[in-house]
Amino acid sequence: MSKMKIRFMLTILVFILFLGVLFSGCQKAEIKYDLVIKNGRILDGSGNPWFRADIGIRGQRIVAIRDRIEASQAAKVIEAEGLVVAPGFIDIHTHADRDLLNIPGCENYVSQGVTTLVGGNCGGHDFPLAELFVSVEKKGIACNFASLAGHNTIRRQVMGMKMEAPTTEEMVRMKDLLRQEMKAGAIGLSTGLAYLPGTYSRTEELVELASVVAESGGFYASHIRNQGKRITEAIEEAITIGEKNGIPVQVSHIKLADEEVWNQLERITRPVEAARARGVEVTLDQYPYTATSSGFTSSLPQDVFEGGREKFLERLQNQEVYARVKQAVIRNRLTSSRGIDKLETIYVASSRKFPGYEGKNLKQILELQGKPATVENGADLIIDLVKEGDVSAIFFQMDEKDVEDLMKLSYVMIGSDGGLQVVGGGSPHPRSYGTFTRVLGEYVRERKIIGLEEAIRKMTSLPAQTMRLKDRGLIREGYYADLTIFDPAEVKDTATFADPHQHSRGIVHVLVNGRPVLEEGSFTGQRPGMIIHGPAFGKK
Ligand SMILES: [Zn+2]
Repeated sequence: MSKMKIRFMLTILVFILFLGVLFSGCQKAEIKYDLVIKNGRILDGSGNPWFRADIGIRGQRIVAIRDRIEASQAAKVIEAEGLVVAPGFIDIHTHADRDLLNIPGCENYVSQGVTTLVGGNCGGHDFPLAELFVSVEKKGIACNFASLAGHNTIRRQVMGMKMEAPTTEEMVRMKDLLRQEMKAGAIGLSTGLAYLPGTYSRTEELVELASVVAESGGFYASHIRNQGKRITEAIEEAITIGEKNGIPVQVSHIKLADEEVWNQLERITRPVEAARARGVEVTLDQYPYTATSSGFTSSLPQDVFEGGREKFLERLQNQEVYARVKQAVIRNRLTSSRGIDKLETIYVASSRKFPGYEGKNLKQILELQGKPATVENGADLIIDLVKEGDVSAIFFQMDEKDVEDLMKLSYVMIGSDGGLQVVGGGSPHPRSYGTFTRVLGEYVRERKIIGLEEAIRKMTSLPAQTMRLKDRGLIREGYYADLTIFDPAEVKDTATFADPHQHSRGIVHVLVNGRPVLEEGSFTGQRPGMIIHGPAFGKK
């Protein structure tokens, strides 16, 4: 080998070594972020138009929002060119609760961009909350979780299935239990006044119970007593309960659920806007579907349930009682002034006793039974289902125009009213899989009912404000890095009533407390979620 060649090769070697030292030195010295999201369109949750920026994350928090952050400063980079970067969606109305322990990956919510779930809605929570929180923290969950404390749960603990108003002593015990749950970390009180035993309570009872929330802060959320012809009075009752205690009021899953009040939005806007005008903080949530989902008990006269299930079954033996119950079911569920065949609008979603009914409507079930599809037979079928208990159903009972008009109101946020789902389990309402992506795909992109910025606000900072979260729901330096990154041209729900177990499309990355739970559309299996405690947490 010639001298020249040796010198040349040595020079190259030294140069490579030099580069190596320089490069590794630079990297070590300048890694400032665990993760940087580059070139995304930032929709910060405030409702403002998007802007372009890079986001730097360290640990659990957003630490930098800059025009440009060098990729070399990041341990990891997410390239978000062409994608929207939004705060993680906060679902203020779920029934996730205890299912968190069985479905800790929260997949049906993560895949629609949700990073925080609120449970304990409609008057029912997992009692006692302290125990649930400990179990959930031990298990580890993908999403953050907060819970309300439910009036039905508390009332049942203290009074069983009694119809009367509470005695002074019972009232004291209910307030003590609520105080205990607030100190365990509940973010407020929920009622389910169409459900048992909440349906037995009067306004005074609820005003007094809600005073416990006023002691520490928190809000009052209500599944109101009536979502049909008496909806205005029902909203006014919820407002009274909040107003007398000086606490915010959240009216849950708002809807005009009776064809006789369809397209009469003023029945909702009038009481809400009057209250807001006089200084009561009232907000609402809705899901973007024309069908509801619940059990059948609210269709029956409520007194037949007094004292519990055995008493109910006993009472039904009496022909007179049965006839009265049947008439109520026909009146409440199976009568239409618009000539709609109601038997075709009610589907069984899940039934342990009759799994063969799942996904079928009442007309189809009667046909299966070889019975004529009459209203009479439909009522008998509903009563049979209630006798079996544990049946949930889907009711097509709203008008699309009302869903759209409600969405245009600035004080209405998005909430699924769904629960955690195992793929293939029953025939649930598709809202559990597609609420948030359906708003983004169908109502924003396809129908242009509201703008993208407004839709994101309704999913992020508005629920955060209602819950008094000071470090979530917006993209801000110092806030938790709960982020949803999606393709605005692709995002859509795919779950349908016929085929509900379908994950959404177009959500690309989801971060919870800085860690990915969805990456390039695939679940990571990580469980970085936290319990979000209410204002009384830890107080003596
Ligand atoms: Zn409800």
